Amino acid sequence: MKAAVANKFGDILKIEDVAKPSIEPHQILVKIHACGVCHTDLHACHGDWPVKPTLPLIPGHEGVGEIVEVGSAVTHLNLGDRVGIPWLYSACGHCEYCLAGKESLCMSQENAGYSVAGGYAEYCAAHADYVVKVPEGLNYVDAAPLFCAGVTTYKALKVSEAKPGQWVAIFGVGGLGHLAVQYAVAMGLRVAAVDTGAAKRDLALSLGAECFFDFKTDNVVEDIRETTGGVHGSVCTAVSKAGFRQSYDVVRRGGKCVLVGLPPEDMPLPIFDTVLNGVSVVGSIVGTRKDLEECLEFAARGKVKAIIKEKKLDDINDIFADMEKGEITGRIVMSL
Ligand code: NAD
Ligand code: ZN
Ligand code: ZN
Repeated sequence: MKAAVANKFGDILKIEDVAKPSIEPHQILVKIHACGVCHTDLHACHGDWPVKPTLPLIPGHEGVGEIVEVGSAVTHLNLGDRVGIPWLYSACGHCEYCLAGKESLCMSQENAGYSVAGGYAEYCAAHADYVVKVPEGLNYVDAAPLFCAGVTTYKALKVSEAKPGQWVAIFGVGGLGHLAVQYAVAMGLRVAAVDTGAAKRDLALSLGAECFFDFKTDNVVEDIRETTGGVHGSVCTAVSKAGFRQSYDVVRRGGKCVLVGLPPEDMPLPIFDTVLNGVSVVGSIVGTRKDLEECLEFAARGKVKAIIKEKKLDDINDIFADMEKGEITGRIVMSL
């Protein structure tokens, strides 16, 4: 089968002919029809993070498609079912986190396109208990970005605990951020968005953000505080240390700063202000299968729609280059 493979950190991916995966009794085989390109895939191929993926690697954790083989121990899925394979490829199912419905914190989890082969391929094996069905009325291309960008930002907004009518600041209007704006609006929140350039401004405002600030030309922190009085929650998807600090500085007393983006840097925090202002700073990692079902439902009901440019697997190196420059509007989805 055809796959995009990372053989060395920092090198371009190679389109290769590799063996089609064989499945275990608890697995299914999915014929991938579409796979979104997440900035995490770029981090993976660059070896940016402390825990590195094993090479050679087939990246991809927004792969969706149809089931073409069902393992002998699988009883709840059928041939032809439409499913997606998210970042949370599998978890142990019996640790304290799994039992508490916090499976994305499981210490024994596998991650698609990182610790195991992902969706940048014609076929992908998956754990039957951790794939999530694509609802009817949602096509493969539109569904793909929701399996990471969608569920991650939907969950981060829940974690922010911002209530309808309150303000949230969304830092980064990229693949994740443009969905964060839409989920926030659908949840009744008021949105201040931050990114740079006319394309991101137009995108954010067209999706329902009430105001947009350009991190290259505006005084982001002052402007947001003046417009909103300080936000109740902020969600930082920016791949930038400076963006993280600003996302902290715009939160009002008692508010929550939710960290989502994963630049390989530290974030120094002022102890005094954090204590006196009662501000929470909290990380949010993807979402559970339940979060994913909910987030897909918003899209199936037409409340959220990823802005997508469709490309092919062979385009992956150009897609990565554009992503590094911040030149993608919305999400790129490779159709296979
Ligand atoms: P992307 O490249 O599509 O978008 C990033 C956006 O941030 C771009 O539009 C860029 O212009 C903008 N940006 C850069 N500097 C900024 C700043 N200072 N202020 C505001 N915006 C700024 O990337 P993506 O696919 O949306 O992923 C974003 C990050 O989130 C990556 O680090 C990725 O690894 C991480 N991620 C985390 C999770 C999680 O579960 N926590 C899940 C998926 C992705
Ligand atoms: Zn992702
Ligand atoms: Zn577990």
